[in-house]
Amino acid sequence: MEKRTTKAPELDQSRPLSLRLRLMLWYGTLLVVALGFFGTLFLVLTIEAINQSVDSAVRAETRVASLDVARELSLAPPYWPAHLSLPTIDTYREPGVVVEIVDTRGKIRYPTTTGAGRSIPINSDATRAVLAGQTFWYTTKISGEHVRVEASPIFASTVKANRTSPGSRPVIGMLLVAKSLSDVDATLFLLQTLLLLTGLATLVGTLIGSWIIATRVLRPLAGIVATARAIAASTARGTRLGNLRPRVSRPRGHDEMAQVVDTFNEMLAFLESATQTQRRFVDDASHELRAPLTTIRGNLAFLQRHLNELPPEERSAMLADVHEETLRLAKLVEELLLLARADANQDTSLETHETGITAEGSIQHEPTVELDHEVLQLVRQLRRRLSTEGSQLKLEIGHIEPARVRGDEESLRRVALILLDNALKYTPVGSEEEAGRVIVSLERVNGQAALRVRDTGIGMEPADLEHIFDRFYRADRARSRQGTGLGLPIAQMLVEQLGGHITAESTPGKGSTFSVWLTLA
Ligand code: ADP
Repeated sequence: MEKRTTKAPELDQSRPLSLRLRLMLWYGTLLVVALGFFGTLFLVLTIEAINQSVDSAVRAETRVASLDVARELSLAPPYWPAHLSLPTIDTYREPGVVVEIVDTRGKIRYPTTTGAGRSIPINSDATRAVLAGQTFWYTTKISGEHVRVEASPIFASTVKANRTSPGSRPVIGMLLVAKSLSDVDATLFLLQTLLLLTGLATLVGTLIGSWIIATRVLRPLAGIVATARAIAASTARGTRLGNLRPRVSRPRGHDEMAQVVDTFNEMLAFLESATQTQRRFVDDASHELRAPLTTIRGNLAFLQRHLNELPPEERSAMLADVHEETLRLAKLVEELLLLARADANQDTSLETHETGITAEGSIQHEPTVELDHEVLQLVRQLRRRLSTEGSQLKLEIGHIEPARVRGDEESLRRVALILLDNALKYTPVGSEEEAGRVIVSLERVNGQAALRVRDTGIGMEPADLEHIFDRFYRADRARSRQGTGLGLPIAQMLVEQLGGHITAESTPGKGSTFSVWLTLA
């Protein structure tokens, strides 16, 4: 025999954690990208706006200074006055603005007071542009401080010169107007720091938030894992299902995770009740098998010891008991096998019934049976048996309509036999005037065949009626008669496998009616 060892699959402990970590990293990365993009855009636009406002301030100062210079210059060379003063600039110059005038020979003409050399560094590109009569903008540093500089040409104001066209006049110097960018730098530094800090705070907040949310969302998963593990641990080497009682605690709300938990718990509940039924069935089966075996063993042991002392009639009585119990045992084993096989086949046969396709994929032509013929044949056989037994019971044929139904002959015969057997078994013979009766009828109702077995027997209490299809169930009043309590469950299973159903009605002391509903072919 093939030996198999089943090992519970190792569950990866780190999985929920890594999922949580991955979610958090995803959120974090997305946020960093988004914050980086918008932060940079914001900074660039702000720098642009500030630069423009600085440039226009510088331009205004340049214009004022140019007008002052033009007023001061003489009309003939060397053009420059001995002391160049710019009255408007001197009076109204903005704080942080430096104005410097250098002539083409590099001499500082303004401010006359400094004398210690130029304070605004001149760029060679600027010199070239200014000498060509153009204005030039640049950014440089004065004693470690950023400044924005506009370098513009100073033209000679000759008498003959055409004032509207500066190009025709010679360039005699350079006007430099610089504005400190320290405020701008401070503002930008503040802005950058603020952006960085808020960005960092948002990032940390989002990471913590996403960790908390992911933990909360994934917590039920951990519960499912723990429950599944506990069940796996209590299941001994795959030979029996362990404790199925634990349930996963349900998260609030009706989200997907709650549905997963509900479905998992539902599945556990079904499994639990199925295993309980199975265990009860095994218990009942062992109990039912033990009873005849005890009689057989006891009788045989007694016979073995006292064979010669026993009178022959007692010996044959004991042997008859043994025989009867053996038959009962054989019947029980056969019925148990039938149920076990039907249980095992239930899923596949249901699928096949639903699709009409066999496991091999070929279309199956379902067998059909002429139920009326089968029933009449069976009644004839049972009548023969009754007359051989000398029974006064009346087995009558009621209204029988021709009905071809889907199903196999063996199953249908077995179902009909179980019902008829029960009807005959639980119907007392009665008196001469009012003999016990069993009536069989077959009708076609709404595309279905209804096979009815009615009797005038002992009937059943409503409490018993509820359980007669449970395996091994027998009403107390039935105990005096032979039986296993498996007939009706087998009949029900066979009928359901054929896509039909079975119902029972009964009045205690008056009789019962069992109806089998089958689909007409
Ligand atoms: P059993 O072998 O005991 O007949 P079944 O499964 O066939 O087992 O029936 C279950 C129980 O249902 C019986 O024990 C009996 O109590 C009740 N029962 C079944 N058929 C009848 C009937 N025709 N009249 C009264 N009781 C019935």
